[in-house]
Amino acid sequence: MKTNKKMLVLAGDGIGPEVMGQVRRVVDWFDRRRAVKFDIQESLVGGASYDKHGTPLTDKTLADALSADAVLFGAVGGPQYDALPFDKRPERAILALRKEMGLFANLRPAMVFDALVDASSLKPEVVRGLNIMILRELTGGVYFGEPRGMEKLPDGQRRAVDTQVYTTGEIQRIARVAFELAKKRGNKVCSVEKSNVMWTGQLWRDEVTKLHGAEFPKVELSHMYADNCAMQLVRNPKQFDVIVTDNLFGDLLSDCAAMLTGSLGMLPSASLGAVDQQGRRRALYEPVHGSAPDIVGKNMANPIAELLSFAMLLRYSFDLQDDARLIENAVEKVLASGMRTADIMSPGAAKVSTVVMGDAILRELDKQAA
Ligand code: NAD
Repeated sequence: MKTNKKMLVLAGDGIGPEVMGQVRRVVDWFDRRRAVKFDIQESLVGGASYDKHGTPLTDKTLADALSADAVLFGAVGGPQYDALPFDKRPERAILALRKEMGLFANLRPAMVFDALVDASSLKPEVVRGLNIMILRELTGGVYFGEPRGMEKLPDGQRRAVDTQVYTTGEIQRIARVAFELAKKRGNKVCSVEKSNVMWTGQLWRDEVTKLHGAEFPKVELSHMYADNCAMQLVRNPKQFDVIVTDNLFGDLLSDCAAMLTGSLGMLPSASLGAVDQQGRRRALYEPVHGSAPDIVGKNMANPIAELLSFAMLLRYSFDLQDDARLIENAVEKVLASGMRTADIMSPGAAKVSTVVMGDAILRELDKQAA
């Protein structure tokens, strides 16, 4: 008996529709070949929505996102929208979705496929087999804390203030996600803060430790200062499994970890919210990259980041571990066969287009499921 999953697909602007086109073929493949069945709704978002409706995110699309089991997002933005007023900019759509859906947990895996080990700026032995997860708190901390602002002082200087604020509840809910993730991976959490110099860091460490003792004693927990974590990520990244940290440190450390893998076109992400009254966890999945205006319409974009985002959707929204692994294995095999889109091209490999990469992944899925 197939179960119907309600998925809202928002391809967006630039290469968004191109990479999503390949993912839609894979979604259709799952519909035909696997136990999962999707009810798909598609809407415009970002600049495409602005062009048609005069707003980057309509109320209807927001309502659909709130009632979907999961949202699969492409990318938004482009130079033609750069002069728009702030509230009409395409990027407002993703910020509004994150806020309205209450997406407080941002998951950024950094995985190095064997075939791409040379794409990293680090030595192959440091990154080969790397598979870590950076979990960033997304809705609190210094980007939102009050008071914030800028003022002019009587002596003519200007003074600016940002405030780092966390409550026990905010720390506990992100730490809980970290421990639950770790249980399904390598069973290790490293909690990262600066409790040596920040009150919020002390509270962070206390609350993570308390929750660990009360609910997750079997998960291995360590603590690290954020500056040391930045060093360890480039010295020996394989020591980590799940890293959990606040909004600001997570912003920096997730970009640092991403570059261990070498290419923007390969990086998926997920943002998870609280569980709603129907027992559903709101969730949005998107590649880390943007709309890549420089290559739009050239059939050059790498669809793998979007495809791996769909694999995350299968794993985290629907607990379909085997199906997620099917996609990851297919990607691994296609890369091992020497096929590359331009962004991950290496000497001796075969340069292929977006659509040919999609063809190859579908053929590989067929083989694996045979
Ligand atoms: P970008 O990620 O779009 O592109 C950076 C570089 O990486 C470009 O050279 C691009 O060609 C390349 N690239 C990105 N994704 C690729 C892929 N899948 N395959 C091959 N090459 C790829 O970042 P940018 O140039 O700074 O921003 C372009 C636009 O995207 C801006 O309007 C920006 O605001 C927007 N943006 C949107 C999001 C989002 O929708 N979440 C995220 C970042 C940037």
